[in-house]
Amino acid sequence: MPRPILATVHTPALRNNLERVRRSALDARVWAVVKANAYGHGIERVYEGLRGADGFALLDLAEAERVRALGWRGPVLLLEGVFDARDLELCSRLDLWHTVHCDEQIDMLAAHKTLKPQRVFLKMNSGMNRLGFTPERFGSAWTRLNALTQVDEISLMTHFSDADGPRGIAHQLEAFERVTRDLPGERSIANSAATLRHADQTRGDWVRPGIVLYGSAPDFPANDAAHWQLQPTMTLSTQLLSVQTLKAGDTIGYGSNFTAEGPLTIGVAAVGYADGYPRHCNTGTPVLVNGVRTRMVGRVSMDMITVDLTPVPDAKFGAEVTLWGRSTVTGTVLPIDEVAQAAGTVGYELMCAVAQRVPFAPAETDPETRQ
Ligand SMILES: *Cc1c(COP(=O)(O)O)cnc(C)c1O
Repeated sequence: MPRPILATVHTPALRNNLERVRRSALDARVWAVVKANAYGHGIERVYEGLRGADGFALLDLAEAERVRALGWRGPVLLLEGVFDARDLELCSRLDLWHTVHCDEQIDMLAAHKTLKPQRVFLKMNSGMNRLGFTPERFGSAWTRLNALTQVDEISLMTHFSDADGPRGIAHQLEAFERVTRDLPGERSIANSAATLRHADQTRGDWVRPGIVLYGSAPDFPANDAAHWQLQPTMTLSTQLLSVQTLKAGDTIGYGSNFTAEGPLTIGVAAVGYADGYPRHCNTGTPVLVNGVRTRMVGRVSMDMITVDLTPVPDAKFGAEVTLWGRSTVTGTVLPIDEVAQAAGTVGYELMCAVAQRVPFAPAETDPETRQ
């Protein structure tokens, strides 16, 4: 038997979260952002749950090929555009729309021989200061692109730095609207946080949610996933390998950084940092055992963690341990955002970091779509 660790992707939850986005962006079309292999879930595993989106947005050309290989004929957008002139040939062949964020990409397009003009999303740097033309340079970039026979429709795009926090989006939105007011073309401005938190100000033509589709709150801990009616799309689970009974003064694991104050029963679970479980988790990180909430004690090892069994005294060898997601025993959810917070990171990173050695269960679907 393989190690009991398992990741499960929940198709009905993906569908629920996409519907949740649609309720916040009624007049918009939805790019399902599936970069980084669908935030670690696997593009092929999320496709069934997200195929109700209007398009798929990602950055890696190999991932774009995988979306086409699944039979998707609708829009596909490269969020960082092309990296090399040869990528434009693949854009033609696979009918990919691509972001244009710098002069070099316009140069490549100008030199490109294509039979069919390409659809582009011109990106403004409205304050994030990663990719895009500044408001001062945006108009001339648009004019230059618009003159190219290689270019079909031009859409207008920007990205927010603080849609999840107190600074908000007003300062960036002001720059974007001022500069694009007189330009034709569709708009795409809102990521997950802007779509849910600033729905009244982000009535763009295309919203670009990523993290909310995967059931993580875009603004945790101000709000949690339940507040936004999001469901976890990934469960990481394993089992207990061993149970140990400690007495006062006994320590646990490497560095002996946890000392039992009195008699304590602990369970050893088959998961460690080599599975992508963050090593920064330590005593206190929430864990479910047989669906009952408890906490980690001691350090994360490469292949094991240790958990306090006080709230689940009957848990034995083989008991279910849920690291995040939903327990199959009780249906209880442990939000990935809480585990991420305990590790000093965000849900995004944990999803993306599930290691290669962790097997995924066959996709879980609801009866409606089972064939
Ligand atoms: C990743 C990304 C998104 C999605 O961001 P979330 O915070 O996951 O919603 C949207 N737009 C761009 C340009 C991105 O790179």
